[in-house]
Amino acid sequence: MQPAPSTLPIEKSVRYLKGIGPKREEVFRKFGIETLSDLFYFFPRRYEDRSRFKRIRDVRIGEHAVIEAKVNHKAVRPLKSLRLFELFVEDESSQIVAVWFNQPYLMNTFTEGDCVILSGKVEFRGRLQLTNPEYEILKEEDTDVVHAGRIVPIYPLTEGLAQRSLRVSMKELVDHYAEYVTEYLPKEFQKRQKLMGLGEALRNIHFPENQEILDQARHRLIFDELFLFELALLRDVALLKKEEKSIPLKDASGVVDEFMKELPFTLTEGQKEVIQEIILDVSRGAPMTRLLQGEVGSGKTVVAVALLLLAAKNKVQSAFLAPTEILAEQQFESIRKLLKSFNVNIGLLTGSLAPEDKSAVYRAAETGALDVVIGTHAVLQEGLKFKQLGVVVIDEQHKFGVRQRNALLASEPRPHLLVMTATPIPRTLGLTLFGDLDLSTIRELPGGRIPVKTFWISRKKESDVWRFISDRVNKGKKAYIICPRIEESEGGAVESAEDLYARLSRKAFKNFKIGLIHGRLGKPEQDSVMWQFKSGKIQILVATSVVEVGLHNPDATVMVIEDAERFGLAQLHQMRGRVGRGSNESFCFLVGDPKNVESRKRLRILTKTSDGFLIAEEDLKLRGPGDFMGTRQSGLPLFRIAEFPRDFSIMLRAREAAAQVIREDLHFYSEYHGALKQKLEQYRATLVEPV
Ligand code: ADP
Ligand code: MG
Repeated sequence: MQPAPSTLPIEKSVRYLKGIGPKREEVFRKFGIETLSDLFYFFPRRYEDRSRFKRIRDVRIGEHAVIEAKVNHKAVRPLKSLRLFELFVEDESSQIVAVWFNQPYLMNTFTEGDCVILSGKVEFRGRLQLTNPEYEILKEEDTDVVHAGRIVPIYPLTEGLAQRSLRVSMKELVDHYAEYVTEYLPKEFQKRQKLMGLGEALRNIHFPENQEILDQARHRLIFDELFLFELALLRDVALLKKEEKSIPLKDASGVVDEFMKELPFTLTEGQKEVIQEIILDVSRGAPMTRLLQGEVGSGKTVVAVALLLLAAKNKVQSAFLAPTEILAEQQFESIRKLLKSFNVNIGLLTGSLAPEDKSAVYRAAETGALDVVIGTHAVLQEGLKFKQLGVVVIDEQHKFGVRQRNALLASEPRPHLLVMTATPIPRTLGLTLFGDLDLSTIRELPGGRIPVKTFWISRKKESDVWRFISDRVNKGKKAYIICPRIEESEGGAVESAEDLYARLSRKAFKNFKIGLIHGRLGKPEQDSVMWQFKSGKIQILVATSVVEVGLHNPDATVMVIEDAERFGLAQLHQMRGRVGRGSNESFCFLVGDPKNVESRKRLRILTKTSDGFLIAEEDLKLRGPGDFMGTRQSGLPLFRIAEFPRDFSIMLRAREAAAQVIREDLHFYSEYHGALKQKLEQYRATLVEPV
């Protein structure tokens, strides 16, 4: 069925532009671009100031230069095993040569007399040269100001999109359609925030008149992106808290106090505080949506258990979701132990249960005989029915946000939600990006824990580590060895887990029980290997980074991370957290010889601190939040133009502006917000839901 033709010219297909046929249309579709209005948001990757070219005589070694010159002659010649293409060019001041490696076809690209723009690094190799520059051949008719004589946009290219013709299409778009772009921000708002109009911003982000205007255009578009993001986020929360009801959970009999007294250990201050926060939060009729962060071993489970108990005493049920079967079983055991004197009925539901046991749990959940059902995310969403579900706890979750797809949360009244994670989220990021969850933090580890001693060593010293491990294993301890790759690839620059496993079991550890685990094994095999490791049937485990985060294994006291420079800071910290979980002294060896300054810095930070929050802040600085959380993983939208940490201050302003709109007019009743409402709906349609 054809959609009804839109009356707005800007909602027409990109095909309406000259130079865009069916093939290009397809390429754009892959970028999610279908209409002219979408195409405005296909932003340049960078710009080149072609209003002023460098004279060849003035280029300096080491700089990035953009020159306009005429082709004098060209040649292909062999250089060692390479084929070198040389292009000799000149302008009125001097001459220079541009070189490309192994691209002999360039011979046919250039013709003597061509006028070219070259943009690249100036190097000295016995002569001054431009190495591997980007190029563009100017045509006779280019006296207009599309490709030269101005600040020129350079677009991200893929196959099927050539820079020049794309630029021509974009110029046509801007010249003929920018006037149809609808502004959705009220005039006053724009003035208050000092924002350029949207049409003007979109015109200038592609073909800026000058640098200052380009900066303003960029500012407006970054603001837009973050403003809509925050508006959607904050509005969801506001609507949720205002309109959705939950069952209030009250601690009338002081059962939580009793629970805390009965524990075999004293709670840390952090644990106590969070329990109080939660009790207060669930006592109201509005749903709790809380994220509890605390390092591996900080004792999050017991906090969740206090909530499960409170729910049971209020005669509502709880679902406790673990990421894997083995963790579900482990939590089932510890939760049962913690609640044994409180008369709470707990059921375990995993994929490997016999069908009749499974249906018994299903029945007991439905009749209300079970107070708590523990299981994996997958299993607990398969049509499980509760009599009265009041609480959902999600353990070891790495995706956040109210918008999470979780069938259990759809029941009415809405269950209170507690999400737990061992990923420390830097304050700056947490406030702005996960503003839809209230944040609780446990900062300290229970007493008696010794920080993991961390060393950074060269590959050459590997055998020292193997000796160290042998010594520990002889004393009844266990070790992890983590490798970045499962099997040989990329020319074998990095040793694979399989190869290392083979090598170690033949030589260094031939007298020990050594195991191998990686993501390509099925879940049941992985679980079985992990159980063997836990029970001591395996003493040394070679693994890829997929291995469990939360498994409690106090005898594992050595962690070796091979090619440590291949991992991010937060990831290294996570992996290290798998040791040091008992009262035994633990060790972590980061093996690698990175040349790159940033990698060296990462490894050094880890040897100096075990404070997850500090590490998270550092990681954020080094990599930005997209990488930090794994953009898709975290459910963060891919921002098109905003970048972090660069744009944090704009984010804060956008957030405040969004909060104000919501305070004043949550439902967008006012005329004033009509266009904004529509824009927000469009924006929502583009949001990728976290899976
Ligand atoms: P995580 O935060 O990684 O989920 P757990 O809740 O699994 O940590 O706790 C790790 C271990 O520490 C468990 O064996 C738990 O019983 C124990 N524990 C929790 N809180 C305390 C405490 N305050 N004092 C001593 N041990 C504790
Ligand atoms: Mg845990």
